[in-house]
Amino acid sequence: MILILLGPPGAGKGTQAQRLVRDYGLVQLSTGDMLREAVKNETPVGRKAKEAMEAGQLVTDDVVVGIIEDRIKRSDCKDGFILDGFPRNRAQAEALDEMLSRQGCTLDHVLEIRVPEDDLIKRITGRFTCAGCGAGYNDYFKTPEKKGVCDGCGGREFERRSDDNEETVRARLKAYREQTAPLLPYYEDRGILAVIDGTAGIDDVARQIDEVLKS
Ligand code: AMP
Repeated sequence: MILILLGPPGAGKGTQAQRLVRDYGLVQLSTGDMLREAVKNETPVGRKAKEAMEAGQLVTDDVVVGIIEDRIKRSDCKDGFILDGFPRNRAQAEALDEMLSRQGCTLDHVLEIRVPEDDLIKRITGRFTCAGCGAGYNDYFKTPEKKGVCDGCGGREFERRSDDNEETVRARLKAYREQTAPLLPYYEDRGILAVIDGTAGIDDVARQIDEVLKS
C-alpha cells in the first residue's frame, strides 16, 4: 500500500505516520526528517537544504525528488510506504507519478489531514519531544506530569525543532497554502483523496484513517 499524508505543518502527519508504521507495517518516508538528518550531518544535501529550511521555504525539487527516488528503491519499501511531507508541489507530484509508474506501482490513497490555520500556530510553536524516546509534548496542551521529566522514559532532555518558531511557522503555512494545497484537486480528480478531520484527538484521527484504508 502506498499512501500520501497531506496537510499543513502541525496537522499531525508525523504522529499518524508513526502509528501506521506500527499497525500496518509500512515504512515512513518523511522528507523533513531526512533533510534534518542531512543538515545535522552536514552532507551535501544538508548544505543545500539548510537555508531554505531555516526560512520556512521549500527546498528545491531536485534535492527532495532525488532523496525520495533513492529511498523508494530500497528493499524495505517493497511492501508499501507512507509519504509524509512529500510531494509538496505540482512538480514533485508529477515526479512521483513518473517514479511510481517506472516501478510499476500505484498510489492507493492520499489522506488530507485538515486543521484550520488558527489552531496550527500553538500546536507547532508549543511542541517538543523527549530526546531519549521521542515522546511528544506541547506547552499548551500536554506537558509532562512531572515538570522536566519525560512520562515515558524518565529522560530529562527535550528537543525543539529550530523551525518551530512563529516567524518560520508563518512562512511554512504560506508555502503550504500557495504550493501544496493546490495538489488537493489533482488527487481529488483521480478519486484517491480522502479528507480527515485533524482537529479530533489522535485516536479519533487514527480511526478515520483506518476507515479509509478499509474501503
Ligand atoms: P516538515 O518536517 O515536513 O515540516 O519539513 C520541514 C522543512 O523541510 C520544510 O519547511 C521544508 O523546508 C523542507 N521540506 C520537507 N519536505 C519537503 C519537500 N517535499 N519539498 C521541499 N521542501 C521540503
